[in-house]
Amino acid sequence: MTSHVWHPYAHVKTQAPAPTVVAGQGAHFELEGGERLLDATCSWWCMIHGYRHPRLVEAIVEQAHTLCHVMLGGLTHEPAQRLAKELVRITPASLNHVFYSDSGSVGMEVAMKMALQYHVLTGNPGKARMLSLMKAYHGDTTGCMAVCDPEEGMHSLFSGLLPTHYFAPAPTASFHAGPEQVEYDLRALRGVLERHHQDVAALLMEPLLQAAGGLNMTSPEYLKGARALCDEFNVLLIADEVATGFGRTGKMFAVDHADITPDIMVLSKGLTGGYLGHAATLATDRVHDAFIGDSEQHAFMHGPTFMGNPLACRVALESLSVFEDDDYLGKIERLSAILNRELVGDAALSSHPLVADVRVLGATAVIEAISAEALDGVGDFARSNGVWLRPIGRWLYTMPAYITSDREMVEITDVMKAWFLADAGAERKSPTRQP
Ligand SMILES: *Cc1c(COP(=O)(O)O)cnc(C)c1O
Repeated sequence: MTSHVWHPYAHVKTQAPAPTVVAGQGAHFELEGGERLLDATCSWWCMIHGYRHPRLVEAIVEQAHTLCHVMLGGLTHEPAQRLAKELVRITPASLNHVFYSDSGSVGMEVAMKMALQYHVLTGNPGKARMLSLMKAYHGDTTGCMAVCDPEEGMHSLFSGLLPTHYFAPAPTASFHAGPEQVEYDLRALRGVLERHHQDVAALLMEPLLQAAGGLNMTSPEYLKGARALCDEFNVLLIADEVATGFGRTGKMFAVDHADITPDIMVLSKGLTGGYLGHAATLATDRVHDAFIGDSEQHAFMHGPTFMGNPLACRVALESLSVFEDDDYLGKIERLSAILNRELVGDAALSSHPLVADVRVLGATAVIEAISAEALDGVGDFARSNGVWLRPIGRWLYTMPAYITSDREMVEITDVMKAWFLADAGAERKSPTRQP
């Protein structure tokens, strides 16, 4: 059957036909024909409760019977109010103001507009550019593309369309690096700020884990240093926690590892447990209060149609309750221990000639191969072993749903390891270990 669906990130000419998913349950989804796959990616990192979680499904159904949607322009409703209150409760102190939108990219667009307008309103209209990091990924919309890594991102094709921003080198120190070991990275960041701070509205950062740009992990010390530099140069710090938020790095938010408060923080993927598209851009009192005034410039001119959608807010509230009721941080710690034991702790894997690095942070693990070619066919291999893996470039990663059982977790790591550890040249074997 010809498909009229245009798939993301795919070559129309060479793409294999996409399998049809008919249902999901727990950490698995099911394909037409009955094939079941264990989802090692939790669907682009958002389905943190897995599929068909009864409490989340029920929350949506219940809300649908009351109010599916209403505009947030000039109106409000209980799910939007309650969710904002909850987000303020769980995020660092003084992030007290919540602006809703419908996706991570738009949440970042909102953050950038907010930062720029903040500086206009506080008498620094020259601060009109962003400072981002190499290896950054902040979304696919035009504004976001311009702050993604300019070499590996999509800059060159769209350079005629995109504004130009500043970039500092990606951090190189690992998660466990101490204050001295992040000095090199912070010096590089300081260098860019010293040269350009008059033009810079905000430093954008995926705290601790640059996700789509290659699962680059760094230290909370780097984050602390970046916070201090932002204060020194009157630059706002925007934490893009679209991927890291809601437990992915082992704490509720990545910034919690460093005990810092960003000026603006963006949440999306895990916000609704993946059940509906939504995002939240949170601002501190300092940022928000700059908008109190009666000039024309004081209104924040943004308002996506579906912002604060009641179904999305309601399921996000339920997602948070489940997260706390079922001790998800405990589950994440357990998953992390398994990932460390099975992947980082496997000497044969780390020393394999096709493996450049193996690293784990919270419920995220990556085997970095020496080249993308070294991963050619790994998706099909995983699928033939009942696991859904989709590498990014040379990075074979897992970001499992938090409800993934110990046994399922080992199933995933076994498949990831088996890709490398089967006899070279021979038909790759199925994982032999029985969990
Ligand atoms: C996925 C992602 C985005 C974009 O979110 P969308 O909902 O896909 O628009 C932005 N920032 C980070 C860090 C992401 O991982």
